[in-house]
Amino acid sequence: MPTRNRTVLVVGAGVAGSAFAHWAARHGFAPTVVDREPRLSSRLSRLEIGFGGIGVLERMGLLDRLAGEVGPPPAVEFRFGEDGDPVRCPAPPAEHSLVVRRDPLLRELRDLTGSDAEFLFGDSVTALRETPDGVDVEFENGPPRRFDLVVGADGLHSTVRDLAFEGTAADHIHDLGVTVAVFTVPDFTGQHALSTVLVKPGRGAMLTDIPGEDALEAVLLRRRPYGERDAGRETPEDLARAFAGDGGEIPRILDEMSRADVQIAPTRQVRLDTWSRGRVVLLGNAAFCSDPMSGMDTVLALKGAMSLAGELARVDGDHRAGFFAYEAAMRPHVEHAQRMGEDTVDGAAPSGGSSGLRVMRTALRAELLASKVISLFTGGNGIAETGPEFPFERYLPAGERGTV
Ligand SMILES: Cc1cc2nc3c(=O)[nH]c(=O)nc-3n(C[C@H](O)[C@H](O)[C@H](O)COP(=O)(O)OP(=O)(O)OC[C@H]3O[C@@H](n4cnc5c(N)ncnc54)[C@H](O)[C@@H]3O)c2cc1C
Repeated sequence: MPTRNRTVLVVGAGVAGSAFAHWAARHGFAPTVVDREPRLSSRLSRLEIGFGGIGVLERMGLLDRLAGEVGPPPAVEFRFGEDGDPVRCPAPPAEHSLVVRRDPLLRELRDLTGSDAEFLFGDSVTALRETPDGVDVEFENGPPRRFDLVVGADGLHSTVRDLAFEGTAADHIHDLGVTVAVFTVPDFTGQHALSTVLVKPGRGAMLTDIPGEDALEAVLLRRRPYGERDAGRETPEDLARAFAGDGGEIPRILDEMSRADVQIAPTRQVRLDTWSRGRVVLLGNAAFCSDPMSGMDTVLALKGAMSLAGELARVDGDHRAGFFAYEAAMRPHVEHAQRMGEDTVDGAAPSGGSSGLRVMRTALRAELLASKVISLFTGGNGIAETGPEFPFERYLPAGERGTV
């Protein structure tokens, strides 16, 4: 059990914050988690979790608890333009990737931590004032409190980042130039463990099944013309115009979109020179979102949570040394994922014309790019997943090393 900096406020009970609370408690810290949402969302959000993330879930004992909730990783069928045969890439091995809905994953993460952490829902922070031996925190609803450390795991539009770091969101959030819309549609294809990816010049669409549900997740992407303003204020109708006249499944997808609860946003990355300021540190999307299409953000959130808690514990809660070691360890993983994020966006809504699509198809068919593309479209989970090694053993509590 650490002798310093035991009380930690975690802002955000998403995957990053909930996983950190588990690991922090397991190392003997006393986490309090606050989330502005009063309850879990009921959206059918689907997460695909690749190799490194599965390794963290396994060491948390969550794979068994999630056994009834996970689905197999999908094969991917690409169609480039309107012509030509589809190209099908096999699914990655089940031990390299799994699909799970976000809500059961979060429910199990929170249940796992249980009373080892204090959870406050429906509240947020409004001010953070650092003193030599703590951080004075003001809340929207609850009374002010003091914590030794604060972890900002509050997602892309982090309030903690705004309160504690220099610069504005515009300095930290980088638009990748493509708008993405995600929504659920009734399963009108009957596909199982399959992602269908339609790639057109400047736009793309994907349909994937959701484990345990009679529904598919639909994703539409549209590359915005250079210089187009209003990124972030596009509507489903703007997306629909970009796909008007396309064939195949597109008319049905557009019809369903007109009735669906559509999440729509530009593809964005968070890039910061440093992830900590004094006693405040950022984690997950708040620190290093790689983009919603790469599928790597949940893996990064899980690895980052284990790493941050593990590094802090290794230095007896010394935040300067612990935050430094966490950042040094995680930077290579983040840079790898952010490169993949850019490639994914480029490949899913390519800027080239029809000839570019023919080149992509030929290359894929020749299987020169197959493993790379699988890993891009399956969240880095494909057979070609490369990237830095993650030292799981290093981050386990001392008494558990060599036993898991
Ligand atoms: C509702 C939702 C649906 C998603 N659906 C998908 C999906 O379908 N597919 C996919 O790949 N990824 C999805 N994601 C993203 C994915 O969960 C994350 O990218 C990834 O798991 C990294 O998680 P994170 O914990 O860093 O951030 P997030 O998942 O964004 O979690 C941040 C948490 O912080 C809370 N929060 C935000 N601001 C504040 C504040 N000011 N005060 C207190 N709490 C705050 C939020 O309520 C949320 O619980 C979704 C995220 C959300 C929030």
